[in-house]
Amino acid sequence: TIEYVRKPEWLKIKLNTNEQYTGLKKMMREKKLHTVCEEAKCPNIHECWAVRKTATFMILGSVCTRACRFCAVQTGLPTELDWEEPVRVAESVEQMGLKHVVITAVARDDLKDGGAGVFAETVRAVRRLNPFCSIEVLPSDMNGECDNLKTLMDARPDILNHNIETVRRLTPRVRARATYERSLGFLKRAKELNPNIPTKSSIMIGLGETKEEIIETMVDLRDNDVDIMTIGQYLQPTKHHLKVQKYWSPQEFNELKEIALSKGFSHCESGPLVRSSYHADEQVRAAKSN
Ligand code: SF4
Ligand code: SF4
Repeated sequence: TIEYVRKPEWLKIKLNTNEQYTGLKKMMREKKLHTVCEEAKCPNIHECWAVRKTATFMILGSVCTRACRFCAVQTGLPTELDWEEPVRVAESVEQMGLKHVVITAVARDDLKDGGAGVFAETVRAVRRLNPFCSIEVLPSDMNGECDNLKTLMDARPDILNHNIETVRRLTPRVRARATYERSLGFLKRAKELNPNIPTKSSIMIGLGETKEEIIETMVDLRDNDVDIMTIGQYLQPTKHHLKVQKYWSPQEFNELKEIALSKGFSHCESGPLVRSSYHADEQVRAAKSN
């Protein structure tokens, strides 16, 4: 293992804190909502919120029952189950004028339905108030239960996204409880439940994986009918999280994108600052025109 890898120039970006952004942050607090954009201190926040009109909401609370070693979300036993949250998310999407929204959630292994009920209701509430906004859902494996996935798919999101996060070999070290095979099965079942809804998955690289292992992951995803893939650089959120083993260069990201497209993905975003939800509006268009 490497003790410390210096952050390259292409990752040194300044966080935007203009007035509009401050206003939206205030609205989030008032409505007791969480966004991944803020909590992960995502470097793309200005581009996404102000220019592309997209954001990623994290529902079902801010405490997760799992403790993945790359993730900064707090671990514990959640207590909230707020059936009003779907409406507040829908109102915020309207207030922000979003064209594309990503809805993700902490893993609620404490709930029998894994949170699928509130999740599905959020999709419906957002659609009722924002009929022209495309909706992407990004659930955990919801305990791997097919019924939970069906509840969510029945709400007919525009994209089902479930992140495989890393290559097969590193999964036990990187992810808590989730398994590589279970995630593949989850993506496959989503496609079986509704073949018209595009599926998507993302990996973070820089955790010690090889190029061959990344390609193997691409093939595994394609074997399970995944349509869209995103690849981004892992950044260590705090010193208690897994260390970065390598900063892949922009050229290497471009090369990975070409390989992904050659494996049959309809769309691939690949770059150092790419996050699961980055340029997601384009991905919906690409998936729909296929
Ligand atoms: Fe939010 Fe995703 Fe955009 Fe980052 S890339 S600001 S998490 S929508
Ligand atoms: Fe973070 Fe999701 Fe893992 Fe929970 S399940 S620790 S929110 S990555």
